[in-house]
Amino acid sequence: MTVLASGSKGNATVIVAGSTRILVDAGMSCRELMKRMVQVGEDPEALDAILITHEHVDHVAGLSVLARRLKIPVFITESTHRAWVRMVTPRSTMSYAKWLEKMQREKEARAEAGAAQGTGWGGSGSEPRDVGQVGLALDADSDSSVAEVEEVISSKVKADPAFLPAVEYFRAGHGFSIGEIDISPFTIPHDAADPCGFVFHARSESIRMAIATDLGYVPPNVKMALKGLDVLLLESNHDLEMLKDGPYPWSVKQRVLSRVGHLSNAAAAEFLLRDYDGGAHTIVLGHLSEQNNLPELARLTAEQAIGGRMGLLGNRVVLAAQDVPLEPICL
Ligand SMILES: [Zn+2]
Ligand SMILES: [Zn+2]
Repeated sequence: MTVLASGSKGNATVIVAGSTRILVDAGMSCRELMKRMVQVGEDPEALDAILITHEHVDHVAGLSVLARRLKIPVFITESTHRAWVRMVTPRSTMSYAKWLEKMQREKEARAEAGAAQGTGWGGSGSEPRDVGQVGLALDADSDSSVAEVEEVISSKVKADPAFLPAVEYFRAGHGFSIGEIDISPFTIPHDAADPCGFVFHARSESIRMAIATDLGYVPPNVKMALKGLDVLLLESNHDLEMLKDGPYPWSVKQRVLSRVGHLSNAAAAEFLLRDYDGGAHTIVLGHLSEQNNLPELARLTAEQAIGGRMGLLGNRVVLAAQDVPLEPICL
């Protein structure tokens, strides 16, 4: 596991087992994500898939550009995908008169394009190729040249900012696999359409890692999921006192504190003290608030909760940062 970034300004983590590489969340620009991967010695071109926890911008900011650039599939729940599409598609409301005008303009533009290209569009007369067919063009392994496909992709992107080269739906509670990694998605309580955490099981090495950030509290299903882990990335978002006294407006404080907000240092510690089985090699504390937390406070709170179990058997506590990638955790 390599945490490329963690926090409210962007999240991304690389999970590698054998020859399988998965990026979990793409919450920074494509350029920044690729830069950070190179920094930690991971080749972005070798990524097999992108997996999305939820549609908040700190988890998806670079999603479409990265997926298109690397031409890799995005694994996402259907509800999260819908919410993301709504988010990235510009909303336009127009009057009926305006709509008629727009239709007329588009008709004229099509006629012009047809006239310019003669019968160049697959023999369908003056109609330009329907860019909506791009999925078929790629999937059917047709005889179109790569250049032609690229051209269709670029026109499709212009027409549809939510275009992704391939989308695979998963459902919380239903396991699936990407290459050598088995993935168990679980529902987390957070104010998004269908937010998920993940347990990753490297089949050949029987190593288990999990990501659980962006959750208001730790419900029973999450406690169940976070058992028998070798590495756990757990949210330790804020110190309650710092949040209460801090600069956020009251409404934002309420949101963060709510059952669908973020996990406090104290709530993370409560989990580590009462529910955690103590078997992990490393616990990574992540999604720390820059305004309402101090890394050393988060660490101290977690270490106190782990108490006597630290040391011999592992239970090393490390802090994921916003600005720099964390050293890869290799088992
Ligand atoms: Zn987040
Ligand atoms: Zn979120």
